[in-house]
Amino acid sequence: MARINDNYLKLQAGYLFPEISRRVTEFTTANPDAKVIRLGIGDVTKPLVPAVLKAFHEGVDDMAKGESFHGYGPEQGYAWLSQIIIDKAYKPLGVALKTSEVFISDGSKCDSSNILDIFDLSNKVAIGDPVYPVYNDTNVMVGRSGEANDKGYYEGLVYMPCTEENNFSPAFPTEKVDVIYLCSPNNPTGTVTSKEQLKAWVDYALENDAVILFDAAYEAFITEENVPHSIYEIEGAKRCAIEFRSFSKTAGFTGVRCGLTVVPEELMGATATGEKYSFNKLWNRRQGTKFNGVSYPVQKAAAAVYSDEGWAQVKEVIDYYMDNARIIREGLTAAGIKCFGGVNAPYIWLRTPEGMTSWDFFDKLLNECHVVGTPGSGFGPSGEGYFRLSAFGDKEKVTEAVEKIKQKWGK
Ligand SMILES: *Cc1c(COP(=O)(O)O)cnc(C)c1O
Repeated sequence: MARINDNYLKLQAGYLFPEISRRVTEFTTANPDAKVIRLGIGDVTKPLVPAVLKAFHEGVDDMAKGESFHGYGPEQGYAWLSQIIIDKAYKPLGVALKTSEVFISDGSKCDSSNILDIFDLSNKVAIGDPVYPVYNDTNVMVGRSGEANDKGYYEGLVYMPCTEENNFSPAFPTEKVDVIYLCSPNNPTGTVTSKEQLKAWVDYALENDAVILFDAAYEAFITEENVPHSIYEIEGAKRCAIEFRSFSKTAGFTGVRCGLTVVPEELMGATATGEKYSFNKLWNRRQGTKFNGVSYPVQKAAAAVYSDEGWAQVKEVIDYYMDNARIIREGLTAAGIKCFGGVNAPYIWLRTPEGMTSWDFFDKLLNECHVVGTPGSGFGPSGEGYFRLSAFGDKEKVTEAVEKIKQKWGK
């Protein structure tokens, strides 16, 4: 019989979101008239903006005519899209990139997982706690870990607790690591890494020959100065970092699928015999063999995000979500609930009132306020006692949810 990949059996069965839906279904079955407001989702709700939709349609129409039909495109993405991204998203930050360093993909969940292909299994990997579960689980799947302990930490992976005490900005790992995942603005905590902090990470990575995998999926939600949009704003980062970006949250592409990964040509790793080798060459080889590019109409649509018209429209949607974030943040604070994030990210991370566990608060919020959120403990042991609310909802519903929370917990 063919052997399965036993590493998959080490994973705790996709517990968080199925368990949330189980409890919500149980509640709505028992209370059919209750209007449940969902602030648990990590998905956008607003439709594609007109300029993007127009380009998307044009891309489809091009496919209908022999002279403008597109078959396989470059596995790395069309150079015209990479160039637009470089000019519109990186140049204004003072970051110079070549099209050969930008790889267009079907999203950053895949890229941040697939990137493990070009790293040897012997590398020590550090991740945050709480964390976007993909970083943890993909390392378990490839066999970089042992079993999980009672707390949920996998043997062999290095966890960096992100807590109120360290302002959700973890300390450097206490042991030597080779790969470090950073996510800023952060999902789930909604907090950010400042320029000074990111500089310290880059210096640390350069000193310790580590590679930083920087997930910037929420960079478009940054509103404050001094918060880096790209790790390459920090000097030396091209020698130690890979960056992931996505059109998903930026432009509502969660169901369209487009993202990008930057692998600078200067970024080197070591071969088995200790010689330097370019990660860019490896990723290019990997994509060339295992990926066949993003569809042409999708890349047309993505390019329109950075047109003057497209960007203005996209920005309006982001501002709408960020106004929701403000409503949640201010409402919770007024109710005496301590919360974090929501200024440069569409997530609010709150400390559960009265010292409740994350799941106890989930049940109370659902049963008494008819509001659904995400228990912090689902993102890692250090998330216990915390809770995530998402700003990707309808303003009226968000406002109503916040009013209910205020009535319940406000003095
Ligand atoms: C939503 C999200 C992404 C984007 O994933 P896509 O595959 O591009 O849709 C990446 N990282 C984090 C932390 C996210 O929350």
